[in-house]
Amino acid sequence: KLDWVDRGLVSVGLAKPPSVVRAVDEVDLVIRKGEVVGLVGESGCGKSTLGRMVAGILPPTAGKLYWNGRDVDTLSDDERRTGKLRTQMVFQNPFASINPRLPVAEIVGEAPRIHGIVRGDRAAQAAYVDEQLLRAGLDPSLKGRYAHQFSGGQRQRIGIARALAVQPDMLVCDEAVAALDVSIQAQILNLFMDLREQLNLTYLFISHDLGVVEHLSDRVAIMYLGRIIEEAPTEEVFARPNHPYTQALLAEVPRIELTRRSFSSIKGELPSPLNPPSGCHFHPRCPHAVARCTVERPRLKSVAPGHTSACHLNDVG
Ligand code: SF4
Repeated sequence: KLDWVDRGLVSVGLAKPPSVVRAVDEVDLVIRKGEVVGLVGESGCGKSTLGRMVAGILPPTAGKLYWNGRDVDTLSDDERRTGKLRTQMVFQNPFASINPRLPVAEIVGEAPRIHGIVRGDRAAQAAYVDEQLLRAGLDPSLKGRYAHQFSGGQRQRIGIARALAVQPDMLVCDEAVAALDVSIQAQILNLFMDLREQLNLTYLFISHDLGVVEHLSDRVAIMYLGRIIEEAPTEEVFARPNHPYTQALLAEVPRIELTRRSFSSIKGELPSPLNPPSGCHFHPRCPHAVARCTVERPRLKSVAPGHTSACHLNDVG
């Protein structure tokens, strides 16, 4: 069982100290082995920050991340290197973190060689790289080429091959198909699902595209200004959204268009995370807000089996 649980907040220093933005605010998220969790929200809601925390790239300033019941801070380097705790990120633009002067063979082969994941002579290492490229749907004969010689879809496959090369048990995909044409998007989404089956991978799939999330996820968590405000099995959240924010998101996108469109924003602007509204962060934009909403933070409560929502309306009656 793989449980990622974060109970924490992240503070990111901005240009004028002591201003801080609480990008992720007391989030408690459990991701079970083999499951795909979709994380949805408007840009700036903190979903990328949370993804980086889950991937271990960004440490929480408070709270903890647990793996299989263990605080990840207590794992030794050796356990991280040789154990099963391997989380990789797949970004919207994989080449932001790839050296353009390296050939694909080196991009994919470097990390497993450094971490001792693949041993043996050069031939064994080359065979290992070929295996990862094939898994990601790329022709290994192209491994001598450089990043700029590939199309956007092929580049994303290189990013995926690089992630797979360290034998992760979890992928955090941050808008991983957002920059691709629709037909290429479908190919990459299918690849993610094939890899899930073949390798028993777990996913945190971050996206602002509701159609992609509905297609891919077992469970969906909705974020608003750093907080998870609703979480439920995918079918449940799309059929019976509870939180007014989730309802507004789904109402904005006609169901028939779900596979092609994503939402831009709800009525009004997303408030600044530097100075979030008091009480329920959504209250200035919520058509159902009452006085209590402006002063008291609603907590996630069960509204149906496996379905939680953070709205004071659920306390009524
Ligand atoms: Fe709207 Fe109040 Fe519910 Fe927040 S707590 S979503 S403001 S009704």
